[in-house]
Amino acid sequence: MSGVILPGSMVNGQPATLGVMGGGQLGRMFVHAAQAMGYFTAVLDPDPASPAGLVSHHHIQTDYLDEQGLAQLMQRCAAITTEFENVPAPALVTLGAHRFVAPAADAVAIAQDRAAEKAHFVKCGVPVAPHVVIETEAQLTAVTEDVLPGILKTARLGYDGKGQVRVKNRAELAQAWDELKRVPCVLEKMLPLKDECSVIVARGREGQRVHFPVQRNLHRDGILAVTEVHDEAVSAVLAQQAVAAAHAIAEGLHYVGVLCVEFFVLEDGELVVNEMAPRPHNSGHYTMDACDQSQFDLQVRTLAGLPLTQPRQHSAAIMLNLLGDLWGPQGQSPAWDRVLALPGTHLHLYGKLSARKGRKMGHINITAATPEAVRGVALQACAVLGMEPF
Ligand code: ATP
Ligand code: MG
Repeated sequence: MSGVILPGSMVNGQPATLGVMGGGQLGRMFVHAAQAMGYFTAVLDPDPASPAGLVSHHHIQTDYLDEQGLAQLMQRCAAITTEFENVPAPALVTLGAHRFVAPAADAVAIAQDRAAEKAHFVKCGVPVAPHVVIETEAQLTAVTEDVLPGILKTARLGYDGKGQVRVKNRAELAQAWDELKRVPCVLEKMLPLKDECSVIVARGREGQRVHFPVQRNLHRDGILAVTEVHDEAVSAVLAQQAVAAAHAIAEGLHYVGVLCVEFFVLEDGELVVNEMAPRPHNSGHYTMDACDQSQFDLQVRTLAGLPLTQPRQHSAAIMLNLLGDLWGPQGQSPAWDRVLALPGTHLHLYGKLSARKGRKMGHINITAATPEAVRGVALQACAVLGMEPF
C-alpha cells in the first residue's frame, strides 16, 4: 500500500492514477502537475463544474461522505490526497484503510480545529498568540483582560476571515459569541502586526523534509491579496525561524505531504504562528513560476513516494490574487492582453465561469531578476487591473 507509484506505470492493470478529495483550484493545479508527470487523475467533488473536475481524467460527482463515491475513488486510485481543509476527516479514514492517503486523517483533523491546532503548536514549542478556548458559558465568564482586545474565531470552518469577530471588551465578546451561535470558538489576543508571512514545507514518507523560501503576505479584507518572495521581503533570521517552526509542526504530526504554516511578525520582531493548512496554499502559488519545482510538484512527489529534493527559487517573485471584484458588471474579463504585455507575467485562471466579489478566480505570478524589477512590473500590473497598489 505504501510502495512507490512510478509515473506512467501500471498499477493493478490500470494506468497509475492519483486521486484528490475536492475539486477547487488547488485540486486543479495538483491535477495539472500530476498529469504533466504522466499520472492519470481522479477528482471527487459534487460540483459538475468544479475547477479540478473539469481537467481530470475522472470526476466522481458525489458528496465527500458518499460510500459509493469513496469506493469508486479507491477503485481508480493508487493514492489519494486532499485539496481543501474541510474534507470530512471520516472520509479520509475510510480511504486510508485501503489506500495510501496523504496527509493522513489525524493531521487534517487537527488542522480543521483551531483549538486542537493551537494545542499542537504549543506542544511543538512554537510561539502562538495568547488565547483561550470558549465552548461553555463558564469559559466565557472566566475570560480575563489579558486576552482583550481580541478576535473571536470559530474553531471550525473559518476561511478568508469568515467566522471572526473583533472584540474590545467582555460585553462585546459575549455579544460576538451570540452572533457566532455559541459554537466552539477560540479567543485570540489582538497582536500588533508588522507583517505576515508563511512558508511551504514538504515531508516525505521516510521523514525527508524540504522547504520553499519564506513569503511575505498582504491581506485585504481578510483575503490574501499579494505575496512577495525576494531578498528584501523577509529577513534571513525570521525565515530561518519560520522554516524551523514549520518543520517542527510537520514532524510532530508525522506529516506526509505539503504543509503551509502562516505566521505573524510582531512590531518587536517576534514571530508567532497563526495557523496551518494541510495542503498547498494560495501564498505558495509563486512557486509555479519562480522555483524549479512547484508546491504541487511536491504534493505529487510526497503522495507517490518519489524522492524529494530541495527546491530552488530562480527568480524574484510577486503573486497578485485575482478576485472576482476585478471582473466587469456583466462578467467581462480584465484586460489580460495589456497585463501579459508586461515582462515576466504568468497568468493562471481557474476556469470558474462566474465572477463574484471576493471569489478567487485566478492569480498572476510576476518574475524578474531583482526585487526592484519585480515590484516595478507588479505595480504596473496593478494599475492596468485597477488593483490597489501595495
Ligand atoms: P485564511 O484561512 O484565509 O488564512 P482565516 O479565516 O483562517 O483566513 P486567520 O488567518 O485566522 O483567518 O485571520 C485572518 C487575518 O486576520 C490574518 O491574516 C490577520 O491579518 C488578521 N488576524 C488574525 N488573528 C489576528 C491576531 N490575533 N492579531 C492581529 N491580527 C490578526
Ligand atoms: Mg489565515
